[in-house]
This record gives sequence, structure tokens and C-alpha cells, in this order.
Amino acid sequence: TKYVYSFDEGNKDMKSLLGGKGANLAEMTKIGLPVPPGFTISTEACNDYYVSNKTIKPEIVEQIEGKLAQLESDLGKKLGSIENPLLVSVRSGAVISMPGMMDTILNLGLNDNTVVGLAKATDNERFAYDSYRRFIQMFSDVAMEVPKYKFESVLDKYKDQNGFKFDTELTTEHLKAIVEEFKAIYKAEVKEDFPQEPKKQLMLAVEAVFRSWNNPRAIVYRKLNDIPNNLGTAVNVQSMVFGNMGDNSGTGVAFTRDPATGENKLLGEYLINAQGEDVVAGIRTPQKIATLENIMPDIYKQFVETADKLEKHYRDMQDIEFTIEKGKLFLLQTRNGKRTAKSAINVAVDLVNEGLITKEEAIMRVEPNQLDQLLHPKFEDKSLKEATVLAKGLPASPGAASGKIYFTADDVVEASKDGTETILVRQETSPEDIEGMVSAQGILTARGGMTSHAAVVARGMGKCCVAGCGQIKVSEVAKTIEVGDIVLKEGDYISLDGSTGKVYLGNVNKTNADMTGNFEKLMSWVDEIRQMNVRTNADNPRDAKAAVDFGAEGIGLCRTEHMFFDEDRIPAVRKMILSNTVEERVKALETLLPMQQKDFEDIYRVMGERPVNIRLLDPPLHEFLPQDDETIEELAKDMGIAPVVIKKRCEELAEFNPMLGHRGCRLAVTYPEIAVMQTKAIINAAITVNKEGLNVEPEIMIPLVGAINEFKTVKQIIVETADEVIKSAGVELKYTVGTMIEIPRACLIADEIAKEADFFSFGTNDLTQMTFGYSRDDAGKFLGEYVDREILEKDPFQVLDQEGVGKLVQMASKLARGVKGDKIKLGICGEHGGEPSSVEFCYNTGLNYVSCSPYRVPIARLAAARATI
Ligand code: PEP
Ligand code: MG
Repeated sequence: TKYVYSFDEGNKDMKSLLGGKGANLAEMTKIGLPVPPGFTISTEACNDYYVSNKTIKPEIVEQIEGKLAQLESDLGKKLGSIENPLLVSVRSGAVISMPGMMDTILNLGLNDNTVVGLAKATDNERFAYDSYRRFIQMFSDVAMEVPKYKFESVLDKYKDQNGFKFDTELTTEHLKAIVEEFKAIYKAEVKEDFPQEPKKQLMLAVEAVFRSWNNPRAIVYRKLNDIPNNLGTAVNVQSMVFGNMGDNSGTGVAFTRDPATGENKLLGEYLINAQGEDVVAGIRTPQKIATLENIMPDIYKQFVETADKLEKHYRDMQDIEFTIEKGKLFLLQTRNGKRTAKSAINVAVDLVNEGLITKEEAIMRVEPNQLDQLLHPKFEDKSLKEATVLAKGLPASPGAASGKIYFTADDVVEASKDGTETILVRQETSPEDIEGMVSAQGILTARGGMTSHAAVVARGMGKCCVAGCGQIKVSEVAKTIEVGDIVLKEGDYISLDGSTGKVYLGNVNKTNADMTGNFEKLMSWVDEIRQMNVRTNADNPRDAKAAVDFGAEGIGLCRTEHMFFDEDRIPAVRKMILSNTVEERVKALETLLPMQQKDFEDIYRVMGERPVNIRLLDPPLHEFLPQDDETIEELAKDMGIAPVVIKKRCEELAEFNPMLGHRGCRLAVTYPEIAVMQTKAIINAAITVNKEGLNVEPEIMIPLVGAINEFKTVKQIIVETADEVIKSAGVELKYTVGTMIEIPRACLIADEIAKEADFFSFGTNDLTQMTFGYSRDDAGKFLGEYVDREILEKDPFQVLDQEGVGKLVQMASKLARGVKGDKIKLGICGEHGGEPSSVEFCYNTGLNYVSCSPYRVPIARLAAARATI
């Protein structure tokens, strides 16, 4: 087997064998760029090292020596030679670059003799000894894990003794003494002399790279990023070039385009007379790359041409490392540059316009989750760095928000009236807090997970929310937040970062999100390629409008319960619930009917011809009931009954386990009047707007079905009501009746249900809750630890659990298609409908659409397009 490849034997497509760095060094060599020669020891050699009981077998050692000999003869230098010493760098290079692994050892080959040779060859003794002490330090730290500080403290000692501020002030004599001390540290720590034999140095370094593949940091990183453990890392051995050989030398890094904005302009920095690490160490301030034109015009011209060539060759923005040795340019690395969302979009669209990549490739270059950065206002980097972090909770709904804290929805509404920025702080929100959530800039809760009320509603509104922030103690009575010794009172300013979950003290500066032309352009390509529809979860005209602006093609879930909380109707809702007789209830419902009908009309008008799926009432009724005495008394007066009667009825309605209680279709089964009223409202609304010229076909959805007779019973109520309304209006109106699939049993009998239903919408919030048996409102307390300790890979309320919950979705889809083929429409409306990996899963499962919060619509569109490529 061939284990070692010269740079001129490989190419960029050999990443799995040569690692990213090795493959790119080979590619640059191949296309004739000035790369210092060297060779790559393959990932297979690394894997072999582990199979061979952590030894490098003789065959591999021989191949390394062979390539080394070739390198020596090519360069006319020799490892260990005093007259003309060859020095090399040794760098790891995994297939996917991995922080935490061994990175770089420079100047390998130096020892007590070659350092003298280097001094002569370069006519610079200080440089030679400085290189030697750096090598000992790097080799010890990186290859032998001798702690860095042991060496740093020696350097500090010399600087202190001489009153120096910088390493550069140390003289040759100092450096010679330091080298001796460094070797002594090595001996004390490693229990061996510092290896003087350069070949031994090389083999130890190679072995250290292999070992670093399995150091704990690398293992953790691989787990977190789903990188397989059996890939192995390659090792690059490259002849050294020196940027620190005088004023005609230097070193730098550059991006071919701006990684922050995507602007097509070389961006980078360099230092004259320096080695790579000096740029990083920040001892001297690097110069802007453009100024190189004045100092070394020929080199600059060559570099610009090279950067352009690399970008055209890789057809992507490049991140390049270079060194200039005595007026000659060398390239040490190139790779696709990391970038912000804005830059990713601008670069991708520009590259399509420049004819370098296809639209499909452009779409694959932008990560869907990255878009989040662009859809919400965000904090200024600078202000954020200076701000004090108060606590950290769950990143429940992205965005940046600052405001004065208030502890009740009413207080927020009151304070917001004059334009004051507010943050609603609650132990946990409930549907009653809606108005406060609308008025506030952001929401902070101490309890609740990613699908808690606050999180779901906030995402729906595109409002910044940090939920489940257990570190803060919220006292709604005292109106204070406590974190350790810090106590914040009502009216104090805080800032929330809904993308990281961090809570900051004070008012952190923000910048606005903007949808640039290129963003729009990219999304138009996304829509050309995408095959699955993207709808939104919205229950008011404002959210519906926002979603349409983001490209939503319909409403996949309109939660009618949210409409029941508005001030003008909550009394009627309460009367309806507290009624003792059917007649009383019907009367209360009659008050609600026109209001609900108007709600639907308004939504239909915003949505135009786009489909709108309206769900019948879902939550347990007690959620609507009055909590405080004052409201109870008011209601009692209004209803002409005693407050105790209301209190008693409230107690009767309270449930131990409301999420598994009297909710969903169970309400419609036992109180058919509610379903009748809602059906009337939906059908009447459609008739009204159709008279205005629309052509709406209502989709009516029954929640929480688990038994076929539940579905049949409620469907019958809907159909009888709808047909009667249509008949008496004397119009024609098509409508469909379907169900949420959100109870495991519904998945198991999906074929039975499919015979009766026109559509399914997977409610993966409840389906996850009931499949795992995790309360969606309480699981935040332990899921963080579950993920940290790798009991679960991901929070299943955020990322669909494809293995378990997903299997139920697949099974139900298959059963349904078996009965009805394409005649049944399948969609998803749980929070997962806006999460990229879940969207891909939905596409592969054959769903017709995903539905998500308005602000996630562009993310879902992009993810759906990527799934087809
Ligand atoms: C669901 O359960 O996934 C769903 C969309 O319904 P809700 O969140 O309203 O329970
Ligand atoms: Mg549900």
C-alpha cells in the first residue's frame, strides 16, 4: 500500500486520503503555484497506527524516509546537515478540519549542531537561536504535551530581569541561555533528553499527530459535529520557508472576498520580517494587504493574480496563508473561507453571476440556519463584547431585544403605551400574557422549554425570547429578578439575545436586519428548485402577512384558541365554559361567532388564494378561566351568579395532567356546540370573502385524534354544520376535513383514519411529548443535561427524533398513502417544520408541505430546496 504522497502526486479530490490541507497543498502544486515542496502521510497510515497497537509499522517508516530523501535531493538540503540544513514543518490535516487536534510544529530539524548551520546559512545567529527555542517550545507543547506556561515563565523571567517588554528585545546570548533552560524543562517533564536526532524528531512528531486524533478534545468535537471516528488524520511534512529573514521577507493571511459582507475585494493582513505565529500573537500590528502594493509591487501583483487563480480554480472564496522569503512568494495553505450569512449569500449569488457556479451549487453554499442571522435585528458585535452577561437560558426565539423589565402583561402594555421599550419577565407565560408579549420587545422566562408557550408564541411572532433561564430567580410579587448578588427591579434595563440565550445587563446597541437584493435573488432560485411546499403557522392577519412576505404558500396551522384571549371576547369564552346548560353555552357561543368569523375573514383576505388550514379548539378549557378574585367577581356579576359558584366550577375543571386531559377533539366530542360554532365561522367567512372575489376552500382540522370514532364523530358535526350553512347561503363551496396526527396511536391506525380524512398534519410537538413521555412544558429542566451528557444527541423538541418519532411519521405516511395514494395531503405543523434537518426528513418521507413560524419560512424554503439537490 502507498501511504506517503509527495505534494505533486495528489489533488483536491483526495481529501479522504490526504486530509483537507494535504489535498489542497497537492492541488496548488499541481496547478503550478509556488508551494514549498513536501509530502503527506495518509489518513490510512493513521488508521494503521491504531490497528498496529500504536506503532508506525516499518513499511510506513520506509516510505516516509523515501519521500524525505527525495525532498532532500530536490532541494539540495539535508535534515540534520550543518552546512545546509533542511527544516520542515509538521502539521495535522484531517478530512474535516478539527480544532482540538495537534496543529503545527515549525522549524523541525533544529538541534545543537544544525542551529549553528542555520545561523551561518542565514547569516543571522539571533534568528537561528530564536527559531530553535520556538521549536523546542512547540515540539514539547504540541507533540509531548508539556504545558506551555513552563516555557513562558522562563521567557518572562528573562524579560523581567532585563526590563524588556517584548520577546523581540531578547539578545542572541539570552536566547542561547533560554534554549538550555528549555531543554532542561523538556528533560524534567518527558524524562528524556530533548531529541537531537532530526529523524527521531520527525517520527515523534508524526506519531504525535496520529495520537492527537484520539485526544479527548478531538473525540468530543467529533461527537458534537457528527464526524466519524474512523476517518483518521493525515500528516503534512513541508519544507520551511522563512518570513523572518529581513525586510524582503514577510508573512500573511488573506481572504479573496470579505468574509463579513461578501464584497469582492481582497481582504487580509501581513507582517514584514515575521513568522506566521507573530501575526497571531499580536506583538506587532499587521498591515492591510493593499499596502503591500507600495512595499513590494511585484510580489503584490503576483499574490493578487494567485488569489484570483485560486478562487476561479476552487470556484469559491478562499482563505489563503502565504510567506515571502527573500523576495519570493510561497503559498502555505488555501481553503474555502468561513463566512457570515450575509457574506455566504452575496458570494454565492456573485459566483453564479460570474458564471463560476450553478444555482444549485449556490443554494448548497448557504446553510439554512445561518439565515436566522439575517431575519432578526441583532446586536452590534462591539457593544456585545463589552456587555455584562447576567445569565443564560434557552435560545427560544432568535433576535435581539432590549428594554425595561416588567413582570405582568398589563404592566408591559401600560409601559409600552408611550413607546418605552419593555421586556416581559415571567416565571412562565400563559395564553393570558399574549398582549404583553405583543407589546414587549422581548420575553424572558425562568421556566419552560423550547416548545413551552412562551417559546412557541414568540417564534410565531418573530419576537426575541429567552426561555427556561433557570439561573434567574423571578419574583412576580416583589417584581424583581435575582441572579446571585445582583437584584434587578421593575424598570431596569436588560438585553436578550434570542439566538444564544444570553441575558445582558443594560441596553446593548442593535443593528437592523435587511433583506438585500441578493438574498431575494437566492430565494427565487430556491423556489425554482424546491418541490415541497412551505406554509406557516399563523393565527392573526399580522403574522400571516409577515409570513407571506417571507414566501409562505399558505397557512398550515391556525390555532383558533389564540383568538379567544382578546379582551373583547374572553368574557364570552368564560361564560361559554362556565355554562351549566347547553342552552347557556350556545348563547355564549353566539356572541363569539361573529368575532371568530371576522378573524377568519381577515386572515383569508391576507392569504388570498393560498390554502388556510384552521384547527378547532385544542387546549384544556381551564386555561381560559379567570385566576384572580377581581376578575372572578366581575364575571360573577356579569353572569348573575355567586363568585363561589365560579370558583367551584374552576376547581372542577382543573386537571392533574391537562396536556393528557380534556382537550383537543375530546372537547368537540363532549361539547359539540363549540365545533358547530367554529365550523359556522369558518364556512361563513369563506362564503363572505368568496363573494368579494376570492376562491377560498377551507381546510378544517380536528386536533388530537387517537381513535377512529373520535374523528368520525367530530367530522360528522363539521360536515352537517358546513353543508347546512352552504345550503342555506345558496352557494357552492368546497371544503376539506382532516386531522392532526399527534398521538402515537393515530400513527398506528393511520390507514383507518386516512379512509375518512382529506389530510393529515403531523403535530410533532405533541407527538414528541407523547412518544418520549416528556412534558413539553417541563422537559427543559433536564433535557439540557441529557444533551450535555449525551443521553440524547439533540433536544427532540428542536430537532425531530428521526429514529423514534420520525419512524411513527414515516409509518403513518406509508399507511395513509397505501389507502389513498396522492389523494391525501400530508404536512407537518410542529415546530420541527422550520428546522432544516427535519425539513429534509419530511421531504424524504414524501410530505406535501411543512409549516413553521413566519420567521422560519425562508429557512424552511432553503432547506426544502437543498433536500432535492
Ligand atoms: C403539535 O402538537 O405539534 C402542534 C402543532 O400543535 P400544538 O403545538 O398547538 O399542540
Ligand atoms: Mg398539538
